[in-house]
Amino acid sequence: MSQYVTVRREGDIAVVTLDNPPVNSLSHHLREPLDAALRALRDDAAVAAVVIHCAGRTFIAGADITEFNTPRATASPNLRELIVTLETFTKPTVAAIHGTAFGGGLELAMGCHFRVADARAQFGLPEVKLGLLPGAGGTVRLPRLIGPGKALPAIVSGNPIGAKTALADGLVDAVFEDDLVAHAIVFARDALSAGRPLVAVRDREDKLATARADMAGFDAQIAETLKKTKGLDAPKRCADAVRNALTLPFDEALTTERAYFVELVEGDQSKAQRHLFFAQREAAKVEGIGSDVKPRAVKRAGVIGAGTMGGGIAMSFLNGGIPVTILEMTREALDRGVANMEKNYAISVQRGSMTEEAKGKRMGLLTGTTDYADLADCDLIIEAVFEEMSVKKEVFGRLDSVAKPGAILASNTSYLDVNEIAASTARPADVLGLHFFSPANVMKLLEIVRGAKTAPDVLATALDVARRIAKVPVVVGVCHGFVGNRMLASRSAELEDLLLEGATPAQVDKVFTDFGWPMGPFAMGDLAGLDIGWRNRKSLGKTAAIADALCEAGRYGQKTGKGFYIYEAGSRAPKSDPEVEALIEEKAREKGVNRRTISAEEIAERTMYPMINEGAKVLEEGIAARSSDVDIVWINGYGFPVGKGGPMFWAELEGLPKIVERLEYWHGRTGKDVFKPSDLLRRAATSGSFRKASGTGKAA
Ligand code: NAD
Repeated sequence: MSQYVTVRREGDIAVVTLDNPPVNSLSHHLREPLDAALRALRDDAAVAAVVIHCAGRTFIAGADITEFNTPRATASPNLRELIVTLETFTKPTVAAIHGTAFGGGLELAMGCHFRVADARAQFGLPEVKLGLLPGAGGTVRLPRLIGPGKALPAIVSGNPIGAKTALADGLVDAVFEDDLVAHAIVFARDALSAGRPLVAVRDREDKLATARADMAGFDAQIAETLKKTKGLDAPKRCADAVRNALTLPFDEALTTERAYFVELVEGDQSKAQRHLFFAQREAAKVEGIGSDVKPRAVKRAGVIGAGTMGGGIAMSFLNGGIPVTILEMTREALDRGVANMEKNYAISVQRGSMTEEAKGKRMGLLTGTTDYADLADCDLIIEAVFEEMSVKKEVFGRLDSVAKPGAILASNTSYLDVNEIAASTARPADVLGLHFFSPANVMKLLEIVRGAKTAPDVLATALDVARRIAKVPVVVGVCHGFVGNRMLASRSAELEDLLLEGATPAQVDKVFTDFGWPMGPFAMGDLAGLDIGWRNRKSLGKTAAIADALCEAGRYGQKTGKGFYIYEAGSRAPKSDPEVEALIEEKAREKGVNRRTISAEEIAERTMYPMINEGAKVLEEGIAARSSDVDIVWINGYGFPVGKGGPMFWAELEGLPKIVERLEYWHGRTGKDVFKPSDLLRRAATSGSFRKASGTGKAA
């Protein structure tokens, strides 16, 4: 008996209770007494069957992540040894599962003869999300229980399985609405009295037969499943391991699974993904916003502007079950905006990712208006009107007169000064930036822009709302473009010059896609529409020789069939266009630029390194509190490859001294500011990491 593991008897049934709050993770201090208890019960002739369950809100939710990278993680008894002990039982063992049985929790449960579950329980092997695979037999046992065809997507995606599906697929043997442990005891008794055969999962072969008979079919399923996981090692290893469950004897498959686990856990990708896991948790912690700062209640949201962003923002709130009042300038604009939202939901219904009922429920929470007075009962109002300071100020002025006291006023501005916007109201403490990313109903990132006067409880409310609408929040300070767009500008600064000096759009884009970005900057520009940047430049009195010339020629990108690339009718695949190459050569001649061969290394150095340099400046100025916050911004808002852990994590692996040296080289050669290494980057290069050089500070 221990504080973590207790055993009680119900007649000849032993009930083992695991109690390791908060989520009963498989810490060494739990494994040790559990192993001792199991061995004693196995050898106790007075015990006819064993039920294992957990105290608190869940079954074992996984490994103990605080043991990661410590000797305790693998210290005996490890999980694999515990499962072997369970599998040597010659009396029924029943796992009684409520809450979540994830990772090691599910692997342990699969060591039992039977699994029974609460109707709300969930099951899953989410290791792939940390760049790993289940390392205690999950890939070898799950296919035996539910069949390889179902185990493959479950393990490769890491997504949870509900109790109903688990029962239908054979992962669990019974599901109960209530009194789980009492039912589990009855289940064990019934198994005894019916003399149910006790077959360890390792010895079940029946569900493997179909896939074994058609390995070509199974390999085709693997290829299809891996299509969406481009560039990541863990999903591939998960699939290899499930395949081994079919082709290798059990113990050999188990040993190979372990070897894959070790290979992945030591690899850079898993390190990057584990870094991101902790980074995301840390980003939600903000200096000065402790649990004593209570968020304000947000029962209704207001959105101003039903354009691209306003519609998506409203949908995010509706998806989170928060009623929305959306305001437009005219009835026509409002109807158009609402029709767009409806259309987007209809597409989800068509694709089968949403029911008609769920769509109706969401649209039922939406009220449209053209009258500011209708925003009077909103607790949070987000403005998503044109990106012009005069328009923003006008809107905030009107809000100031209609919003109730204590309502939070937010701007979705991409670049403008949130402090100036706040100052246009009589309540700057209630104002902040909530910068969503397009499409706002899909993209996870939310930059929460803390103004100089933003009240702590306003910030706490924004963090709370972000969680309710399933966004990943990062608190940032006020500057032109905040964290993401500011770094993006540095990443883009050299693009035109690279073309003028000899590179082609396709060559530049290939460097980006080879790196793992979903798309290169020129293909991205064509997708978003080159006219947006063109109009923006004109309003700022700026020029870009090539992009301006393309727009002047009516080449706005995909929407006109031509941009930096040419697109065949109905196709989104960019094709190189000799006309664009001729245009680039002409512009280079006009500017007297001698064209030369540009290497992939040069393209990477002149785009990615300035982005890192800007990230360091963002840290230096306290615009981001931690380098890991910058990583979260880029992973969730800009498609930075997950397996590289975000720009700042990647930069440390790439080598900060090397980055400084190459920036100095380009600075010496061109004299351009984007290449001038920031002081913090230099310090980080000497100390070895951004964290050591910057510590953690406050985003302000
Ligand atoms: P948009 O042109 O698609 O929509 C703006 C909408 O606001 C229009 O429907 C317009 O009728 C309405 N509007 C303008 N003035 C108004 C007023 N006084 N009252 C009520 N409605 C008004 O623009 P968008 O792309 O949705 O951008 C909106 C804001 O979001 C801008 O500040 C932009 O910088 C920011 N933003 C845009 C993106 C993006 O990718 N599009 C991403 C993040 C942030």
